[in-house]
Amino acid sequence: AEHLLEVEGLKKYFPIKEGVFSKTVGHVKAVDHVSFKIKQGEIFGLVGESGCGKTTVGRTLLSLLEPTEGLVKFDQQILYNTETGERINKNDLRKLRKEMQIIFQDPYASLDPRMNVGMIVSEGLRKHKLVKNKKEAIEKSKELLELCGLEGSNVRKYPHEFSGGQRQRIGVARALALEPKFLVADEPIAALDVSIQAQMLKFMTDLKDRLGLTYLFISHDLSVVRYFCDRVAVMYLGSFAEQAPTKKLFKKPLHPYTQSLLSAVPKSDPAVKKKREILKGDVPSPADPPSGCKFHTRCKYAEDKCKIKIPVYREIEPDHFVSCHLAEKINQINNHL
Ligand code: SF4
Repeated sequence: AEHLLEVEGLKKYFPIKEGVFSKTVGHVKAVDHVSFKIKQGEIFGLVGESGCGKTTVGRTLLSLLEPTEGLVKFDQQILYNTETGERINKNDLRKLRKEMQIIFQDPYASLDPRMNVGMIVSEGLRKHKLVKNKKEAIEKSKELLELCGLEGSNVRKYPHEFSGGQRQRIGVARALALEPKFLVADEPIAALDVSIQAQMLKFMTDLKDRLGLTYLFISHDLSVVRYFCDRVAVMYLGSFAEQAPTKKLFKKPLHPYTQSLLSAVPKSDPAVKKKREILKGDVPSPADPPSGCKFHTRCKYAEDKCKIKIPVYREIEPDHFVSCHLAEKINQINNHL
């Protein structure tokens, strides 16, 4: 399959301002040199602890935020290339925005309580003048609700009349109104009852197959990512620690950070007892990240060079990327193979 999205050397730094003159005294390196590609029809998972930069990646791809540096290409079109100074013009961006939509984490906060469901779902259609009148907007909203497994007659109701799961489906219906190709789902099930999380994931998978969508799925939960995503990238302090097809990553995690995260995931088979590794210390601040390998303050394998040299993010095995100086040594990978 072709790549729908290509990201190369993406950086997003936020200035830290201080004092009455708002002098810039430093930067929060929210996204720090991230590269990846998402194939058409793929579910690409982005995992990491809160504050690791995954949401910022999603928002930058949707061009809700401007990248500080890097190349972003969507559907063969360059959105940004800071190296050449190229950027998409406003008209093309408006068109492209329709093709990239977001599903928010919180189905309670993301739906305007004063608008009825028909208005919410058809908001984008009305904004882009894709419906002629109110009647058409209501008809289209009904269709979209039905596509998302809700009754069309719900158009006249208000968000408070629905459960969390239903609200999230309304959010999805709204995202689908403009017939996007690409959806950023930012923790779409984290705020839902555990009992309906699996159902929501199944619904999203069916939808993807039916409509030929591509997802960037942002989550802090490895066990969710495991069953939902085709490919997973693990983020730590703004950078990718590791990226691989899901099966590969779970079978043979190569980065010490991924290994410790995985050791904390409960095993489905109680006979398999694996020692849970507790990471030492807290996540350092992205405003003042550790030198060299950002993970060195918490890594049990850290050597002197880890404190000085930034590890290169490299393809260590076919389709398996990792940024660790000692990956071969830690995992006893035979380089000749
Ligand atoms: Fe640990 Fe060093 Fe690898 Fe970083 S580069 S993950 S500190 S071993």
